[in-house]
Amino acid sequence: MQQTYFMIKPEIVAAGDQKVGEILAIVNRAGFRITGLAMRTLDRATVEDFYGEHRGKGFYDDLCDYISGGAVVTVRLERENAVAALRELIGATNPADAAVGTIRDLYGASLQNNAVHASANPDDAARELGIIFG
Ligand code: ADP
Ligand code: MG
Repeated sequence: MQQTYFMIKPEIVAAGDQKVGEILAIVNRAGFRITGLAMRTLDRATVEDFYGEHRGKGFYDDLCDYISGGAVVTVRLERENAVAALRELIGATNPADAAVGTIRDLYGASLQNNAVHASANPDDAARELGIIFG
């Protein structure tokens, strides 16, 4: 059994409970077990650390403002092959490129405001779960 980190981004949380519930239901139906769940506003230093691989890129400051700028839903998930399976379920980074029926296809608004985050690989999953869940 593998763990991964999933996060529902601020624009979805701000839009109200319905989309949050729908997205969690999609994840649940795909066979993931929720083993940690919280609604939190992450402080900027935590977000800067979380997205540290992107430090220095043109979109980094806006990304940190955006993710620390409102409540997110933080989720620890467990499943066989969880990391790769969740990345497939959410779709490509840019919702315009995301496969039909993926979460980013259904709920993503723009390249930045793409609804959800999922760890890219098992090392990132362990690092991100450590930052968010301790
Ligand atoms: P992913 O979330 O699919 O792993 P990245 O790690 O490359 O994608 O980027 C992290 C997040 O930064 C993306 O989910 C998106 O919100 C934002 N982002 C990535 N690239 C850009 C970009 N070129 N312009 C604006 N925002 C971006
Ligand atoms: Mg990434």
